[in-house]
Amino acid sequence: MGQRPNSPAARDVAYHLHPYTNARKHEAEGPLIIESGDGVTVTDDSGKRYIEGLAGLWCTSLGFGNERLIRAAEQQMRRLAYYHSFAHKVPPPVIELSEKLIAMAPGNMGKVFYANSGSEANDTAIKLVWYYNNALGRPGKKKIISRQRAYHGVTIASASLTGLPYNHADFDLPIEGIRHTSCPHYWRGAQDGESEEDFATRMAADLEQLILDEGPETVAAFIGEPVMGAGGVITPPRTYWRKVQEVLKKYDVLLIADEVICGFGRTGDMFGCETYGIEPDMVTVAKALSSAYLPISAVMMRDEVYQAIADNTKKIGTLGHGFTYSGHPVSAAVALETLKIYDEMDIAARASELAPRLQNGLRRYADHPLVGEVRGIGMIAAVEPVANKATRAPFDPAGKVGAQLDQRCRAHGVILRNLGDTLAVCPPLVIEEEQVDTIVEVIGKALDETW
Ligand code: PLP
Repeated sequence: MGQRPNSPAARDVAYHLHPYTNARKHEAEGPLIIESGDGVTVTDDSGKRYIEGLAGLWCTSLGFGNERLIRAAEQQMRRLAYYHSFAHKVPPPVIELSEKLIAMAPGNMGKVFYANSGSEANDTAIKLVWYYNNALGRPGKKKIISRQRAYHGVTIASASLTGLPYNHADFDLPIEGIRHTSCPHYWRGAQDGESEEDFATRMAADLEQLILDEGPETVAAFIGEPVMGAGGVITPPRTYWRKVQEVLKKYDVLLIADEVICGFGRTGDMFGCETYGIEPDMVTVAKALSSAYLPISAVMMRDEVYQAIADNTKKIGTLGHGFTYSGHPVSAAVALETLKIYDEMDIAARASELAPRLQNGLRRYADHPLVGEVRGIGMIAAVEPVANKATRAPFDPAGKVGAQLDQRCRAHGVILRNLGDTLAVCPPLVIEEEQVDTIVEVIGKALDETW
């Protein structure tokens, strides 16, 4: 419509149904065509450069154009462009990556299974939990508890775990057997005069009540992001995870930590589990595992979980699960090189050194008339506008102000992402201090222009 005939924009509009996009708005406005990336910046087709303030989709931790990752991919592609891990086979980079991942994983993981995306990893985790409980002779223990505002992906099962209305609406989701408990968002959810500690206690009590209402013998697992990402960058109260884990232990409910965003340094520790003292039974990772240079994800599990699963594969004759690209050798080689770079850089230490610059910088806007809350930890943060600072009433319609902020930041050369009205920040971890300052300044300008 608004695009030059036969231009790349017009052709995109003509042929491409975009993920997470209002298709009618896209027809009218066309795409932002990003042509290249270098360091923490990307360049559009008009030559305008932007700081990628969300690391793409919370994933390109090492930024763009990393020569070592490019070389790792090229060398592996020349040596063995594809192989699989079905029926006892395996390419060497996958052996190395498995050893490395298990060595660095939070908690006490014993085995790793590969997939291609965070959604597939979480789907796989659910299937393995079901398989595990069947193997243990507990076929009734199958329900999975997630949380309101959680984000675990978009496949049928992982979208069911996701606790955001638009991931369910008109997709006929969630599927049977998925429940959602309350979201640990203190600023939004606390009752009058309730301390963070009391709020965390109430969240754990809500979870316990849900397990009791469902019947503990029917509840298999709880899944959670250490810090909720796409639901609005929600950092839980300090004692929340300890209290939740006490409840899960009491009712023999497995804990799956979704580290798809938090993993590999984002929170200032190597894993969000370390930041919050989480001892998971299973861990899912993706995104920064390969700095997003190629798709790869993984599900890790404690040895005890593996042992029951392994027994069952013997009984059935095989593990009836696996993707053509489970453990793709080129993705594995890139992931392995990514993890080496993280080690050399001490990526978590770098994130924790940079964190005050981002977090304190943004907290300067806490008093801004448009801002309800500034929150975050490590190198992930959010600024949430409100219509009424005193009552915390959100804007109506939700998302309009966030979209304006997002657009204004972009006009000033910073790409971020609005989650409804909340503006999220999650830059590549190779970002320089001055670039962090630029992001902070641009958000300030956008707030002033929007107020
Ligand atoms: N889990 C979390 C915490 C995520 O943030 C995401 C994606 O943003 C996913 C899972 C799904 O990952 P993917 O988009 O690779 O399927």
